[in-house]
Amino acid sequence: MDFFQKLSEIAGDAPHCKNEPMSRHTTFRVGGPAEYFVRPDTGQLPDILKLCRQYGVPSYIIGNGSNLLVGDGGMDGLVIEMGADETEITIRDTVMEVPAGVLLTKAANAAAEAALGGMEFAAGIPGTVGGAVTMNAGAYGSEMKDIVSSVTVYDSYGAKKRIMAEDMAFGYRASCIPANHFIVVSAELKLYPGDREEIFARMGELRKRRMEKQPLEYPSAGSTFKRPDGYYAGKLIMDAGLSGYRVGGAMVSEKHCGFVINADGATACEIRQLMEDVIQKVEQVFHVTLEPEVKLIGKF
Ligand SMILES: Cc1cc2nc3c(=O)[nH]c(=O)nc-3n(C[C@H](O)[C@H](O)[C@H](O)COP(=O)(O)OP(=O)(O)OC[C@H]3O[C@@H](n4cnc5c(N)ncnc54)[C@H](O)[C@@H]3O)c2cc1C
Repeated sequence: MDFFQKLSEIAGDAPHCKNEPMSRHTTFRVGGPAEYFVRPDTGQLPDILKLCRQYGVPSYIIGNGSNLLVGDGGMDGLVIEMGADETEITIRDTVMEVPAGVLLTKAANAAAEAALGGMEFAAGIPGTVGGAVTMNAGAYGSEMKDIVSSVTVYDSYGAKKRIMAEDMAFGYRASCIPANHFIVVSAELKLYPGDREEIFARMGELRKRRMEKQPLEYPSAGSTFKRPDGYYAGKLIMDAGLSGYRVGGAMVSEKHCGFVINADGATACEIRQLMEDVIQKVEQVFHVTLEPEVKLIGKF
């Protein structure tokens, strides 16, 4: 049996296919085909990882694809998309256990419904809990490291491990997950008792701020560059005269220069070229080197 037949045997009813366009799985809405694609149940992961090892097929984990730029040439190997049902969220007192594939918005709503505070900052971030833990996603002065108490992962051999927050090596948009090839299965979040109405009101207020400041009407991957020490990427880009700068269908947002947007049918190559042009110009004008926050993967 070849790799795909074996994968089908393991995946059963879970969605899986060959040549899946990654443009369907990224918020930039670009990216060529993944050679193989699966959206497994969490329990199938150890067998899938074992299969990849047996056949020497590389694997790449994605959540909601909201921090990814996938090349137009697609990706070799297997893309594993983490999905989950929010009904799997469990709450004990102030502790919430959330499967990795649950969207942050849904987790934040569940916390608010249960009158638990601490997660309001995450309500408007369009990623999964697994992606947010991996990236240590943050906004409005808070980040995942402030609420994560432990993370359950599979290692690349399919062994389950629980990592306590202090061992997660959380940093600015970073954690120990990528370097160790861990797959986040779930996260335990430590929240605090609050007032349900006030929590919903705070979430609404932060969402409104996002809608006013960010070009949410266009496909993007959020802030394209990391915040350089002592500066704001968006301001540097604007002051370098790059507001509205275009390469094909890719554009520096005029609403928020920290966002590169897919304004009009951009290719991944155009987005990457624009990012390179921005880095070069900001370096030239301000002698500051911008670093992508967005992860560039696959073949360009
Ligand atoms: C409009 C918009 C606004 C945004 N605003 C913010 C913001 O305010 N703050 C912020 O921090 N980010 C923001 N982002 C970026 C993005 O939403 C976050 O980085 C988010 O945490 C990514 O989650 P994801 O599930 O989409 O991960 P993906 O983009 O799918 O993956 C990101 C990385 O995490 C890895 N990964 C994903 N899931 C797992 C898993 N289960 N196990 C192991 N590795 C995994 C992937 O391999 C990849 O390296 C924004 C994006 C958009 C489009």
